[in-house]
Amino acid sequence: MNLGTGAQARFKVISEINSRTPRKFDPPRDEHGKRLRISEFFGVNTFNLKKMKEELPKEIYSNLISTIEKGNPLDRTTAHAIALAIRDWALSRGVTHFCHWFQPQTGLTAEKHDAFITFDEHYQPIEKFSGSQLIQSEPDASSFPSGGMRTTFEARGYTAWDPSSPVFIVEHTNGKTLCIPSVFISYHGDSLDEKTGLLRSLEVLSEKAVELLGFLGYSGISKIQATLGIEQEYFLVDRAFYSLRPDLMMAGRTLVGGQPPKGQQLEDHYFGSIPARVQAFMSEVEYDLYKLGVPIKTRHNEVAPNQFECAPIFEEANIAIDHNQITMEVLRKVAMRHGFSVLLHEKPFAGINGSGKHNNWSLSISDKNSKLHGENLLDPGATPSQNIRFLLILTGILKGVHKHAGLLRAGIASSGNEHRLGANEAPPAIISVFMGDLLNRILNDLENGLGKGESAESTVLKLGVNQLPEVMKDNTDRNRTSPFAFTGNKFEFRAVGASASPAFPITILNTAVADGFSELIAELKERGAAKNPTDHDNMILDVIRQAIRTTKNIRFEGNNYSAEWVKEAERRGIPHHRKTPEALAEIKNPASIQAFTGLGVFSEAEVHSRFHVRLERYIKSIQIEMDTLRSMLNTQILPTAYAFHSFLSQGVVAAQAASVPAPQAELLQGLSQTLIRTLEKKTLFEQLIQKLDTLSSEEEKAHLLAYQITQVMTDLRSLSDEMEFMIADDFWPLPKYREMLFMT
Ligand code: ADP
Ligand code: MG
Repeated sequence: MNLGTGAQARFKVISEINSRTPRKFDPPRDEHGKRLRISEFFGVNTFNLKKMKEELPKEIYSNLISTIEKGNPLDRTTAHAIALAIRDWALSRGVTHFCHWFQPQTGLTAEKHDAFITFDEHYQPIEKFSGSQLIQSEPDASSFPSGGMRTTFEARGYTAWDPSSPVFIVEHTNGKTLCIPSVFISYHGDSLDEKTGLLRSLEVLSEKAVELLGFLGYSGISKIQATLGIEQEYFLVDRAFYSLRPDLMMAGRTLVGGQPPKGQQLEDHYFGSIPARVQAFMSEVEYDLYKLGVPIKTRHNEVAPNQFECAPIFEEANIAIDHNQITMEVLRKVAMRHGFSVLLHEKPFAGINGSGKHNNWSLSISDKNSKLHGENLLDPGATPSQNIRFLLILTGILKGVHKHAGLLRAGIASSGNEHRLGANEAPPAIISVFMGDLLNRILNDLENGLGKGESAESTVLKLGVNQLPEVMKDNTDRNRTSPFAFTGNKFEFRAVGASASPAFPITILNTAVADGFSELIAELKERGAAKNPTDHDNMILDVIRQAIRTTKNIRFEGNNYSAEWVKEAERRGIPHHRKTPEALAEIKNPASIQAFTGLGVFSEAEVHSRFHVRLERYIKSIQIEMDTLRSMLNTQILPTAYAFHSFLSQGVVAAQAASVPAPQAELLQGLSQTLIRTLEKKTLFEQLIQKLDTLSSEEEKAHLLAYQITQVMTDLRSLSDEMEFMIADDFWPLPKYREMLFMT
């Protein structure tokens, strides 16, 4: 027998990793070789509005602006002129190809490249790029998930440029590609992607917010924009370890792996000093992102070993979401150059902190012709009228979240996030809102009718809303257990998973809030506008008071991780969906469909397609995990256990032959028993897999996977982990937790 061959690769990799050094890269320099400041090269790889203004004729530029701001269609002449400017800019930067860059419902991005090269009428090669190529392209839609939206006879779909997001150049080792951010729709105009619904939700949210502000006397504001700052958590694992772990490669998370003696209990990693190789990686990521105009701002260690975070300065939501997709892509690519694999999975390591994507969201006035341009509507102000505005917007949001808590939960549902939500360190699968002490007290006072018979102005002054900014600023102990927390001048939607596209959760949030605003608008309309301004403000305060009352049960200030909260939430009737299939069903409940269709975000067919795509993805993801675990058991874990079993047996036999005690007999006994239990579980596992094949409905499959198969997989994992601790280290072929988590 060839002892310990399985572990040889692992040991080789460990010694390789120990001798790795941080990778150097060449930062952008001027013609004299001097390093450029970030501000000097920020956005060089994007054709942003500033460059457009420089390059385009005045009229063309103003047509483009009105398309971006008002959604006016782009006419042919304008499109052509823009295409020429983009082409010249791209060619001058050495670009050879272009692509429509879009976000199908896979959570990832897609691109199909075309060269600029073509032939003119004299068969001479030229670089060409027309307005119609800029505006539209036709990828074969049949290879992307559509959730039943697309029948085979009309497989075509097309991508259309989204001019509100700037085109950008992606550099790779041997060339450069121009990417045109696009939406992806079917020939009937149905949304096949994550962006169309998002853009529609942003539009209707703006419309409703403008209408609502109208009741406060704000007139002529053209647009309210949602702002978004997305914190991205991730793990780094050395690429050599990664390639020895079929589970990481196939499923993005470990399906087996014993707990290391030291995890995160010492709490020494969070904000700790960043390891040298990781620092080199982060710097290169940032340089690539700056060139692409992504305003990445912070970087730090996260709670778990080898877990990190980066966050940009917030931007308009659509752009922030494109930038998050670009960030995930750049993290993946740069990690490869540094010999790392980046793990964006929500829970790559059981028992260790998971990764989220905190979506910091707010609303601000976006109207260059208004003095109020740039004002954050969730900033409590210094004057009573600003505070009434703040309270009205806030209660509109509360109404939306209250009414659509289940739908918001659905928006973050995935097989990955299922392992994170409700685990010890992540927000639970129950959506509630955290307000903070002061704001909570203000809302309670208001609800209890403080100021009855007083003027609205004095009521608001008494409430002390204007103290909020001060209090929130140094509020260090804010609630980190809440899935949706008010953090002073924005909400932090913390329940979104690290690998998710933020587009769908934010589409849902926008829709829910637009729905909340609609209800406030309806109520205000019903009460009619009072003539006396004092009465008017009182009437508004009363509507706010009503809303605070009806949404009260969605607010929770305590520890969201506690078992009491689960009971309390259930008592309050707040939806609690532990598993993805139940959560996803909320997408197609009547209130959701009504909000989506009523506000023009999705048609009913589109709603059903979102549900099916997500359910299908859930099923496929777990099936991949299932097949991976089966193959790891059959080809790695069991053979290793047998080899060690046989090694021990030989020792026992030899000891008996020599008439001496066999001290390894006890271990052999234990291993035998664990092996037998593993084989029994494996039989059950195989039976369930067979049963899965006989089911025809997606719902039934999802249910079997969610409730039985994942449970057996967890049991098999525990058995494997038991054996990992029995089997000699130099037999074990899979990189261990302590190695993957502590070596860089
Ligand atoms: P923390 O880790 O303490 O939650 P960070 O500073 O890492 O905070 O992230 C906060 C994020 O919130 C940043 O991306 C920041 O730009 C963003 N943010 C700040 N103000 C707003 C706002 N008005 N709208 C949206 N996002 C905002
Ligand atoms: Mg954070």
